[in-house]
Amino acid sequence: WNIEGAEVVAMDGPSGVGKSTVAKAVAQRLGLAYLDTGSTYRAATRITLSHGIDVCDEEAILAELTAHDIDYGAEGIEVDGVNVATDVRTPEVTANVSAVSAHPRVREHIVAIQRAWAHRHGDAAVLEGRDIGTVVFPDAGVKVYLTARPEVRALRRAGDTEAANSSVDEIAEKLAARDKADSTRAASPLRAADDAEIIDTSDIDIDEVVGLIVDLADR
Ligand code: C5P
Repeated sequence: WNIEGAEVVAMDGPSGVGKSTVAKAVAQRLGLAYLDTGSTYRAATRITLSHGIDVCDEEAILAELTAHDIDYGAEGIEVDGVNVATDVRTPEVTANVSAVSAHPRVREHIVAIQRAWAHRHGDAAVLEGRDIGTVVFPDAGVKVYLTARPEVRALRRAGDTEAANSSVDEIAEKLAARDKADSTRAASPLRAADDAEIIDTSDIDIDEVVGLIVDLADR
């Protein structure tokens, strides 16, 4: 393996397609480490909000981020050595994460953290996000892009604890807004890599999706 990222499984797609569940299962089946890159942008958003920084102020966000350590451990996302897996899933963080992650220099900073994490795991891992196959690991050995019909995604999200007090319609509206922000931003927008395998998860169950990806990796 002399191509950087050749042993990386890159999984991209919008919210609610089942990326995290599938990525975790694929990582387990292949014996690889797993990184939820959305949580690194959520950590950056939480740092921004907790310091009262304007989410539009790229300079100030970047300055604050360089003063903190964002990492991903066995129990999930950490800031300055403290697990913040629950704190990054508040409605406030979710509502602001697309704005924070749209800044190109914030992305550069966070992508460097993701690549360093992968490097510490021997550059063999499952990474899940929006731009893994296009930007973070363009030479990943396996690239998949998961999709699902919007109403299916909203229903799946409604099952998450974070969404406990919202109606499916409200969730669908917020998902659509976040997808739009993520796919129309100038810096690394959400899109399938040209060489990604596109899997529609609307009508197939998790095990089947996992099986398809493990087969791709074996090949
Ligand atoms: O996956 P999750 O919904 O937790 O991602 C939260 C947000 O982080 C996304 O809506 C997107 O704005 C941003 N993100 C990104 N690039 C990634 C992963 C997530 O911009 N690779």
